[in-house]
Amino acid sequence: MNVTVFGTGYVGLVQGAILADVGHHVVCVDVDAKKVERLNQGEIPIYEPGLETLVRENYAAGRLEFTTDAEAGVKHSQVQFIAVGTPPDEDGSADLKYVLSVAQTIAEHMQSEQIIIDKSTVPVGTADKVKAKVAEILAKRGREELKFDVVSNPEFLKEGSAVADCQRPDRIIIGTENNDTIEVMRELYAPFNRNHDKVIVMDVRSAELTKYAANCMLATKISFMNEIANLAERLGADIEMVRQGIGSDPRIGYHFIYPGVGYGGSCFPKDVQALIRTAGNIDFDATLLKAVEARNQEQKTTLFAKIHQHFEGQLEGKTFALWGLSFKPNTDDMREAPSRVLMEALWSAGAQVKAYDPEAMEETQRIYGTRDDLSLCGTKEAALKEADALVIVTEWQSFRAPDFDLIKQQLNKPVVFDGRNLYEPGRMQRKGFTYYSVGRRVV
Ligand code: NAD
Repeated sequence: MNVTVFGTGYVGLVQGAILADVGHHVVCVDVDAKKVERLNQGEIPIYEPGLETLVRENYAAGRLEFTTDAEAGVKHSQVQFIAVGTPPDEDGSADLKYVLSVAQTIAEHMQSEQIIIDKSTVPVGTADKVKAKVAEILAKRGREELKFDVVSNPEFLKEGSAVADCQRPDRIIIGTENNDTIEVMRELYAPFNRNHDKVIVMDVRSAELTKYAANCMLATKISFMNEIANLAERLGADIEMVRQGIGSDPRIGYHFIYPGVGYGGSCFPKDVQALIRTAGNIDFDATLLKAVEARNQEQKTTLFAKIHQHFEGQLEGKTFALWGLSFKPNTDDMREAPSRVLMEALWSAGAQVKAYDPEAMEETQRIYGTRDDLSLCGTKEAALKEADALVIVTEWQSFRAPDFDLIKQQLNKPVVFDGRNLYEPGRMQRKGFTYYSVGRRVV
């Protein structure tokens, strides 16, 4: 099948590549000419495990193309994915300008029947807006006879395992009541739907809400665990024992109940805010989601508070080794990353940061440029040298079993602030470290 994907970010590029890999002929359109040029030269602008090989192989086979030529993109197929960004507007609601601009482009160039697929995360009612925009442009062109359907097909991939998630999706949500569209969508996704039927067909509004409900549920789990960890810390309990104690209940489960330094990334923060805003627009006070958001904002400041307290507010001139900059492991994405909140607080207090991340160094440089109080180090060990403490912000695999003797040797004093509970507090104490965790007790 011929497929067109608008947007070559984390979602569009991965989706385009996995669809090409099963044999569809995919054209990816982006307005960012530099990105398209890099892709055409075989350079992958983001880090995502497995993506580089997949893109290169399918590009070489001629099944995956990149272009800025929207007209050619629209003409290429009768299935148009919208996978562009929906960043938060000033008031927290999802900004639909990119989505509607793609809708306009499709309407301006379509010559035959089209299925327009909303893959971007968009508020309930967006498919209606896309429909209205397309109809308006077709009317202007005097081409009202051209048929089209707008289907909601939200994406549930996780950054860091996006390729695997798209190749083996847990579910394929199709939001439309049009039987012809359902048939085409089933054909498109058939290669990913062999083991058992993962397709769930529903009305378009329910599909749109499902995506927000999923992300808000996950964000709620994180904020809940962070709240309990804060309580554990103050009550002399150990959150790790509590986590295992509650995870053993199958109604709760072990997934996604790790406390930490708050959620970041391009999805949870903006999606929770957007649903709060959607609720506000219909005079519904989303009290639970507001609390989830507030706990998260608070949680992002807890590492700094511990550092501040340990050094009795004397942070001027101190140096901190920071391990982990990306908002989670296996990605270079720094959007809303807790590391940014921490670094900015440390800098405001006059401290220096020596940072290391396996993938996000380039992105950190792009965001913060060159500054005297930030050194980007080539290895995690290099960041330690003459630092006053080690601070762990992201739980990369390579931080899990470090050389503790070396850490002690390199730091000015053996102090570790661990925002991800990577180590055993008792063992750290026996090794001679002053060790701060999130809600753990030394036994
Ligand atoms: P992104 O910012 O990484 O990429 C968006 C791309 O769209 C950019 O390359 C941009 O240049 C391009 N673009 C903007 N306007 C365009 C236009 N008119 N025509 C063609 N291209 C255009 O975004 P992303 O992380 O891939 O997210 C895309 C959508 O998917 C968002 O709604 C997001 O909430 C949702 N989503 C993201 C994830 C994730 O983990 N990143 C997961 C599920 C859903």
